[in-house]
Amino acid sequence: MSQIEAAPTGAIQTSVVAGLSADTLYDKCVALARNLWWSWHPEVINLFRDLDPIRWRQLDHNPIALLSEFTPERLEMRAAELVLYSRINYAYRRLKEYLAGPRLWGKTHTGVLGSKPVAYFSLEFGVHESVPIYSGGLGVLSGDHIKSASALGVPLVAVGLFYDQGYFKQHLDDDGWQQEEYIDTKVENLPMEPARGPKGDPVTVEIDTRTGKLLAKVWLMRVGRVRLYLLDCDVPSNSPEDRELTSRLYGGDNRTRIRQELVVGVGGVCALRELGIIPGAFHLNEGHCGFATLEAIRVRMKDDGMTFDDALRHVAQHTVFTTHTPVPAGHDRFDAGLMEEHLGPLRDELGISAEQLMGLGRVEPQNNQETFCMTVLGLKLSRRANAVSNLHGHISRRMWAHLWPWRVEEEIPIGHITNGVHIYSWLAWQMQQLYERHFPADWMQRVGEPEIWQGIHDVDSGELWETHYALKNLLLAFVRRRVSRQCRRRGESDEAVEAARNMLDPNILTLGFGRRFATYKRADLILRDLDWLARMANDPDRPVQIVFAGKAHPADEPGKQLIQRIANLRHDPRFAGRIAFVEDYDINVCRHLIQGVDAWLNTPQRPLEASGTSGQKAVLNGVLNLSVLDGWWAEAYDGSNGFAIGQGTQHVDDRLTDARDAADLQRVLLDEVIPLYYDRDIDGLPHLWIKRMKNSISSLAWRFSAHRMVADYVQHGYLPASGGLSCDMSVR
Ligand SMILES: *Cc1c(COP(=O)(O)O)cnc(C)c1O
Repeated sequence: MSQIEAAPTGAIQTSVVAGLSADTLYDKCVALARNLWWSWHPEVINLFRDLDPIRWRQLDHNPIALLSEFTPERLEMRAAELVLYSRINYAYRRLKEYLAGPRLWGKTHTGVLGSKPVAYFSLEFGVHESVPIYSGGLGVLSGDHIKSASALGVPLVAVGLFYDQGYFKQHLDDDGWQQEEYIDTKVENLPMEPARGPKGDPVTVEIDTRTGKLLAKVWLMRVGRVRLYLLDCDVPSNSPEDRELTSRLYGGDNRTRIRQELVVGVGGVCALRELGIIPGAFHLNEGHCGFATLEAIRVRMKDDGMTFDDALRHVAQHTVFTTHTPVPAGHDRFDAGLMEEHLGPLRDELGISAEQLMGLGRVEPQNNQETFCMTVLGLKLSRRANAVSNLHGHISRRMWAHLWPWRVEEEIPIGHITNGVHIYSWLAWQMQQLYERHFPADWMQRVGEPEIWQGIHDVDSGELWETHYALKNLLLAFVRRRVSRQCRRRGESDEAVEAARNMLDPNILTLGFGRRFATYKRADLILRDLDWLARMANDPDRPVQIVFAGKAHPADEPGKQLIQRIANLRHDPRFAGRIAFVEDYDINVCRHLIQGVDAWLNTPQRPLEASGTSGQKAVLNGVLNLSVLDGWWAEAYDGSNGFAIGQGTQHVDDRLTDARDAADLQRVLLDEVIPLYYDRDIDGLPHLWIKRMKNSISSLAWRFSAHRMVADYVQHGYLPASGGLSCDMSVR
């Protein structure tokens, strides 16, 4: 059954979207809702919210779900009440102009890519909280990447998987232990439609394995000008078990994982072919998608009669590979049995032996003790590989030096392109208004220019502080609402619920910590000396409060223990009203946190945080980073644009590193953060703090934007890979 046809009232029609020939108000709203372009345009978001603010929140900010509760008549009435007509018409016209728009940067900078787009592969895409096909940083990065590619007019199509249960929803039980819940997403409420080939028929791909065929249908999701294709194994011809193969992101065992990676990689390349898309370059966002290269080799051999070796060289020339983590668990490994079961039929067509295939994923091809590593495959099958920050580049070259034993470390061919964030997705509307008032009229088109952001120094300190204070109050209201709901769900007393409704104080220095609860991120670094922290929290003149959020992977027991430890601080009267844990960290929670706290705490064990991006989101909103010198912060901190924990060193003994960093965190808080925050002038403004906010915005916002990142990928990755230029990726 076509999911589109199943849509309720107002029959959300594909033709309306594709041709953008909407006449009625309702059709225009639907057209807006069906391109995720709306998700980074505050005026369109506000428009949807105004239709029904309460349902909007309850429906996870999903405009399609919201519109399905309206008949065209009711929408017309509501629009009349609120005088929404002109706003809807204006938004619709802007979308049309955007889609037709002159591709400014891309037109002049992407040359040969024009006719052959980059195919960008990723296992997760975090575009908006209402489309739950991401888990964390990697997915949000992919989402930000394609949004910026859209803005810049870079010819790019994206390929991923559709998970109808997404990643889990988190809540904590009475003991503070993480519970995971998977919820079926209603496909008809997502901005997707079946992807169609040149002849107009829906595309399905078929992948051979030694134990049977795997089928996947293909969805199309529109993210501005970028088309995101999502493969989905929930098709009737698959076995019941295989129909659930793509149900959950990062669910199941290693066999599930290799099958998912087979579908996104091999299936993804097949899908593009069926769609009539001929990529000029491949970008593998993390090793997960590496099997794409093997299918691309097969196509070259079949279509152009190349030998395996020639085809491999050809594909590697056209492939850009990004590695994202120095943590071993982040590198998928598969044994020979799983490889043969799933890649066997493809291997037959490539004309190589099982040992040869395994060799592509081994550091030492002959070493049959080695399992198949997807990162090794990515490094071997791409001419251009990169890490995601300067420091991560150094670490990755050292980590993979043994793949090139004849080279010295500096010559290991792994460069770096530091991650960035999509400004309009993370910048608070209120801050945007402030920039509007003070920056040049065309600042939105010029966010990559440092001069634009210098403008923040001319902004009145009181105005900046007021804006920040307003955002902080919005965050506190959000936290209180969430935490009191959490208390109610756990069946706690009325007093507890009431206390949650009044927790936190907008006049207190507020630290935020929101991220995956992997142990290397050390959420507990600030909790090492609880007596000390209790004194800080209750200092009569200069108290501190903290908001935490984050999920642990379902199989990560130590991560769940960390969450439990923090959650259970709510039973400790010393922290009453001062420490909050917000459940179910997602894009929405992240957005609130990085827009509303005073300082964003980041305490990874150096050098394990490859980049980190949440701190970059904080920058845009004038929130100061308080971070270990790891990942992006190691190249961003200049002494006056935030706070650094530690000296940028680590001890070989982790326990000593931890102790040293914990002590330094205390020192920075006591000597720098707290005094700076509470040092007020007669107007009550913390001038030195505000100065740092301005330094942070002016020195960092333009450098760590996804526009800059995508431009770097074009210049150093995509153009050379597509044969436009032949320089090496020397972006150290
Ligand atoms: C930005 C973001 C992340 C990544 O944050 P890090 O700093 O890399 O840990 C993770 N999860 C969500 C929901 C995000 O929005």
